[in-house]
Amino acid sequence: MSKKVWFVGAGPGDPELITVKAQNLIKTADAILYAGSLVPHALTQWSKPDCVIQDSKGMSLDEITDWLIQQAEDGKVVIRLQTGDPSLYGALIEMVQPLDKAGIEVEVIPGISSAMAAAAAAVESLTLPEVTQTVILTRVEGRTPMPKGESLKELAAHHSTLCLFLSITLLHKVTKELIEIGYAEDSPVTVVQKASWGEQEKIVKGTLSTIKKQCQTEKIASQAMIIISPTLGARDWDTLKKSKLYDASFTHRFRKGITTESSK
Ligand code: SAH
Repeated sequence: MSKKVWFVGAGPGDPELITVKAQNLIKTADAILYAGSLVPHALTQWSKPDCVIQDSKGMSLDEITDWLIQQAEDGKVVIRLQTGDPSLYGALIEMVQPLDKAGIEVEVIPGISSAMAAAAAAVESLTLPEVTQTVILTRVEGRTPMPKGESLKELAAHHSTLCLFLSITLLHKVTKELIEIGYAEDSPVTVVQKASWGEQEKIVKGTLSTIKKQCQTEKIASQAMIIISPTLGARDWDTLKKSKLYDASFTHRFRKGITTESSK
């Protein structure tokens, strides 16, 4: 009898944004422990009537792993349902280690991260040719200390795209520090709260000098992604460097380029 726990990315909130693989697994699950603070209960809607469903909101890490181990010991199909993708700020390894010790197999199903859902909601591209080709997924220092070399000021020195998780209550610190290192006050910032949560989703577009006030007005104080990027707002730009991928003169594995006047 195999003893196993599946760590499953639930996606950013919209039940349709879970993977087909995860949905199929939920259909067969005997026990689901979901992170109720960020995963809507609707994500368990495909489960069998006798599936044990528990919200982990009030549980400590030990209680979570004990619960998972207990369920898995009985040979059940056990799912730990996590918000977004389990590899990002999800305490994955803290949960996997006790399972390893208990001899329980582990498998992870990835999910759509809120960083991607926030970009989608705002119709933004996090990379643009000759603007930035780099995305930094990070957070700012609150109660969790940042490792050496990873302060916001150091990471932002690249002027690439920043997606800040878990940082909305520290927005004042974010804007202050970026201006201190030379970002223009009118640098664009987009905040998306509850990306993909239907009518609860809020999208706020502003600048380093306006965004804090805008978020206060919108009462955004949790479950929000902060995106700071030179690509923001590109939809309205008149001049755009086009991606080589779709350039008619660019040969790649699936298409032979043609020579045009402009490509000579
Ligand atoms: N593993 C998750 C992140 C968990 S940390 C992922 O991949 O998305 C929790 C933080 O993620 C929140 O503080 C917020 O910054 C962000 N977040 C989670 N769901 C969100 C959503 N639907 N919209 C905007 N931000 C969200």
